Amino acid sequence: MEIEVESEILLSTLNELLPKYGLALPIQPSTSSITVAGTISTASHGSGYQYGTMSSYVRSIRLMQLNGEEKEYTEEQDQELFRCLTCSLGSFGVITRVRLQLAPRFDLELNRYYLTFNSFLERFKTHYSSSDYFYYLWYPHTNGGLANHLTRVLPRNVPLKNSIFSRFVSWVRGSLIEHYLLEFLFYVSLLIPRLVIHINRLYLELYRRPYHEIARCDRLLNFDTPIIQYAMEWAIPLDEAVTCLAELHQWIEEHSTRTRVHYPIEIRFSCSENCSYLSPCFERATCWISIGSLRPYGIYHSQRRLIFQEFQKICQRHEGRPHWAKEHSLTVHNFRQLYPQWNLFHEKRKQFDPNDLFINDYLQKIFGST
Ligand SMILES: Cc1cc2nc3c(=O)[nH]c(=O)nc-3n(C[C@H](O)[C@H](O)[C@H](O)COP(=O)(O)OP(=O)(O)OC[C@H]3O[C@@H](n4cnc5c(N)ncnc54)[C@H](O)[C@@H]3O)c2cc1C
Repeated sequence: MEIEVESEILLSTLNELLPKYGLALPIQPSTSSITVAGTISTASHGSGYQYGTMSSYVRSIRLMQLNGEEKEYTEEQDQELFRCLTCSLGSFGVITRVRLQLAPRFDLELNRYYLTFNSFLERFKTHYSSSDYFYYLWYPHTNGGLANHLTRVLPRNVPLKNSIFSRFVSWVRGSLIEHYLLEFLFYVSLLIPRLVIHINRLYLELYRRPYHEIARCDRLLNFDTPIIQYAMEWAIPLDEAVTCLAELHQWIEEHSTRTRVHYPIEIRFSCSENCSYLSPCFERATCWISIGSLRPYGIYHSQRRLIFQEFQKICQRHEGRPHWAKEHSLTVHNFRQLYPQWNLFHEKRKQFDPNDLFINDYLQKIFGST
């Protein structure tokens, strides 16, 4: 099942359209207010140990090159080039259309429950592999978090709860508690840093009770926080993930009197894939670990740099690859070691853009003079 879409279509638009044709995106990042082109160009991911990144669902790409010519590329025509184009950070040209592989429409059944961090690590594989989609939201400084198991079920046309009461309850939860109150509390914590620990505990308590829901897939796979934030996320080889997480836990505990980490640390999963040379999941099953540093009312959390630096050091010790669209300080020297087809990617890129017209400051830093 495939469809061809304009590259700049939002995932949220697709999520409204596709069910009418009995179709669905197989995975979703935590927000759908982003475009198909943006998500495939950065190998954006959801969370399911059997599912790849958005790049792995691309079946053809229509690209406008520097000379203004448009051409369609597929894996069958030129495998090496296609594997460059499916995650290319805008460096080959302008993607105008994309053919995507889809899934038959499905709903999801969510089972969410409290799980201590130690129990999560002890039965790590059982957790991530016992449902179609799984993610763990870790509340640092509390020793606990929320395990979210999502299982595909046949679509049921579950009516949206639309009564005044249910809309009020959803406003209290979604806007009042998870946005306005939380933003205010984190704002106060900029003045009283130890408050972060209490906020993490309070919000874990609020959601500690087991929760069950069946809904359209995107409504349960999207779970983004409404507060703007900086984010750092690393793709860790799956067999390194438990030690990496244990090290991170130890660092947070040892420094908790001075360094406070905002909840949640998101722990997600993707399968190994070989369809994009620059996918962080290239040739390795992956556990994604993401730390956000919230910016209440746009104000920085002063400990962000320290936390991100330590987090990066730990992930680098475990051969982590950073998410292309999130913060990191790696340069071309690191990426050469991390991506076996790095040179091939750049040979191909140079054929499309010999004078580096598509290279902006960020790409200059990570691509160097390759
Ligand atoms: C609130 C939020 C939640 C997120 N959650 C997740 C998540 O759960 N999982 C995850 O993996 N990531 C996540 N991300 C990261 C996100 O998926 C990426 O930042 C993605 O690139 C955003 O898409 P965009 O449409 O904003 O693209 P942009 O930011 O506009 O572009 C991203 C890249 O794509 C390239 N690009 C865009 N359009 C084209 C085009 N037409 N042709 C060629 N190149 C193009 C750009 O050059 C750039 O390199 C999240 C981001 C936000 C803001």
